[in-house]
Amino acid sequence: MSQRIALFGGSFNPIHSGHLIVARSVAEQLHLDRMILLPSASPPHKTAQTLLDPRHRAEMVKLAIADEPIFEFSDYDLTREGPCYTVDTVAHFREELGLDVILHWLIGADSLAELTSWYRVRALVDSCRIITAARPGWDKIDFEVLRTRLSEDHIASLRAGLIDTPRIDISATDIRRRNRAGRSIRYLMPEAVRDYICKHALYQDC
Ligand code: ATP
Repeated sequence: MSQRIALFGGSFNPIHSGHLIVARSVAEQLHLDRMILLPSASPPHKTAQTLLDPRHRAEMVKLAIADEPIFEFSDYDLTREGPCYTVDTVAHFREELGLDVILHWLIGADSLAELTSWYRVRALVDSCRIITAARPGWDKIDFEVLRTRLSEDHIASLRAGLIDTPRIDISATDIRRRNRAGRSIRYLMPEAVRDYICKHALYQDC
């Protein structure tokens, strides 16, 4: 039987329980064999200003997934040259894993809303199954906007990839703000990640 693998990219600045609960739910619902988490060096859609050193973001991802056998860490997006386009990352893993594998790319509903701005979006949707997890505030997806750059087949495939995951109202932006303001970030991420943030005094002035 074909292996079922999902790639989950993000800035993970820092990784939090929203990422993890959603990823676990997707792994369960899609009967995944593996889920590979890929922190990105400099995501095309984010400002570099608040982006923490890749070394720290990678370390926090590793700590967060340490006792979950299905989850793996990859530094592919952190270490490769040039801009970090998802379509290129998927092509790399397709080549590495083979044509037999059923390959998914996991995003949150906020990312689906801005998919038309992604580099070579049609090729991306053709190259893997885009799985879109629910995210509070993003219950209504505007497929008309997506139609401006995608065919009906692409839209159908994106619709098929919508998945009902727990709605977890946690964002990395809010975590960074809270930490900077001296408010608690407890329970918003695994304790090991919170310890790491405290130990290295991260997100104090970003
Ligand atoms: P920031 O607040 O810095 O923009 P973020 O919390 O959105 O960060 P990212 O690392 O940018 O986290 O997200 C990586 C992927 O995970 C994106 O596709 C995003 O939509 C998804 N994601 C992040 N948080 C959640 C959440 N709470 N529920 C569902 N999807 C999420």
